[in-house]
Amino acid sequence: MKCKICGKEATVYLNYPRMRLCKEHFIAYFERKIERTIKKYKMVSPEENILIAFSGGKDSAAVAHVFKKLGYSITGLHINLGIGEYSNKSEEYAKKQSKQIGLRLKVVDLRKILGKGVGEAKGSRPTCSVCGTTKRYILNRFAYEKGFDVVATGHNLDDETAFVFNNLLHWNTEYLAKQGPYLPGENKFVKKIKPLYETMEYEISEYVKNLGYTYITGKCPLSSGATILKYKKILDEMEQKGPGTKINFIKGFLKKKHLFEVEIQRSSPKECNICGMPSLGEKCAFCKIWHLEKPVKL
Ligand code: AMP
Ligand code: ZN
Ligand code: ZN
Repeated sequence: MKCKICGKEATVYLNYPRMRLCKEHFIAYFERKIERTIKKYKMVSPEENILIAFSGGKDSAAVAHVFKKLGYSITGLHINLGIGEYSNKSEEYAKKQSKQIGLRLKVVDLRKILGKGVGEAKGSRPTCSVCGTTKRYILNRFAYEKGFDVVATGHNLDDETAFVFNNLLHWNTEYLAKQGPYLPGENKFVKKIKPLYETMEYEISEYVKNLGYTYITGKCPLSSGATILKYKKILDEMEQKGPGTKINFIKGFLKKKHLFEVEIQRSSPKECNICGMPSLGEKCAFCKIWHLEKPVKL
């Protein structure tokens, strides 16, 4: 069990590419990989201001740590979703991690701005969908109003593979067309990037643990039984049996993505009557979900 590079005791075993590395060389390997992903997809230039969606989990901690090390200008935004103890702990971890990194951290608390937690929206939408729309809206509006050039999230290879797999199974071709490591911004949409797009979850937890971070573990109590979690399990088994399955699947998807682009409905952009942000109808999804009569203050 020797490190492939220096011959010292290896602490990490990577399945794909198959290799053993010591702590020091694993950290260097991980950071080089993220830097390469950022360059490959032309995610961000040095003078841009980055807002990191900072959850208190391992992924966004890794993104912030690497960006800081590379010298980018970064700020974190944590959204307290008002899911009881789970959200309080997440906020605590986010605060602790940001101190360790030296990251400016802003917090938006749903209970303060809406008077409710994400599980208490009235309507027929599943909670995970309410939560996803709410997070995307707040991140984008915050970034847009405060003048950030780009929003970075901690979505990793396991998340993205499950997302594409799910949308292929259901032939949600329009979602497939709009998905990727880099989503360009336009009018009031700030551009979005996913620096961990090609990196697996176990590598990320290994990295942040090696650096001494603690983070929220366990899934959200409101997401139990979520379909995406079932797909993640199946894909994990496929990866076990065929190392490289996930990365090759996602790279193939990016090559063929243009085939789905004809599906994008190019309706003329409207603005929400309530908040003025981009919207498909009179009211945007966020203002509809929360039955708003006037815009929330972030
Ligand atoms: P998840 O959907 O929970 O796997 O999270 C994916 C990414 O969304 C994370 O890596 C973060 O970048 C972002 N995110 C999730 N939850 C929050 C939150 N409460 N506040 C800010 N960003 C979040
Ligand atoms: Zn080594
Ligand atoms: Zn709105």
